[in-house]
Amino acid sequence: MSDWFSTLASHYHWQAALAVLAGVVLITKVGQWLAFRVPALQRMREVNRDEDSKKKALPKYPPVMKASRNIGAFTNLAFFVLILPFCVTFTAESIGWIVLDAVIILMVYDFFYYLCHRFWFHGKGWMRRIHAVHHQARKPTHIDAYYVHPVETFVGIALFLGSLALLAAVLGPFHVATVIATYVIFTQLNIINHTFVDLPYFPFRGLSWITAKHHVHHENMHRGNYATITLLYDKLFGTLD
Ligand SMILES: [Zn+2]
Ligand SMILES: [Zn+2]
Repeated sequence: MSDWFSTLASHYHWQAALAVLAGVVLITKVGQWLAFRVPALQRMREVNRDEDSKKKALPKYPPVMKASRNIGAFTNLAFFVLILPFCVTFTAESIGWIVLDAVIILMVYDFFYYLCHRFWFHGKGWMRRIHAVHHQARKPTHIDAYYVHPVETFVGIALFLGSLALLAAVLGPFHVATVIATYVIFTQLNIINHTFVDLPYFPFRGLSWITAKHHVHHENMHRGNYATITLLYDKLFGTLD
């Protein structure tokens, strides 16, 4: 019993998990601060804020957002305490592997997300009604990233964290930097997707394209563009709109 426990404890890298948490918070804050030094992005933020405040005044927004936030916080917390410490390490790794691991995690997650979004969220069963809450936003802005039924919030986060844990079980624990990078990209892309961005010129063309693709998806339940990280799987499987 004590042997079993000490083996488990030796794989529980809580310091590395805490470093992930600190890194995610720091990079998100610094990244946002830097991004909104750019006047064009600051202008877009104001446009989103104006629209968001109108939506927030509608009675349907606050309760859905609150429930979604609570479920999201609980799911993340449970993962950070119970699973992440087994999936992350400080052991030195070359920059090439750190980047490659991050790409693998994001691409595997995006594949699972694509399948769930296309065949389950947009399928014929009960999950379609859950996902329809999020699709009420025909012209999404920043706030709509959080206008998600709590069950869908749980499924979405669990898909990402589950992919990470599954890959760690197969490939071994990932470097702290890999986990920070994938976590920040996952959360930020899910938010950026929904913001209104109208900057069709260099260097914002890519950003405008990303948001336009997800906005097309929101127009009704029958449009494509099911993936979130890249639209590679939509291109491969013929659902790119
Ligand atoms: Zn959808
Ligand atoms: Zn959406």
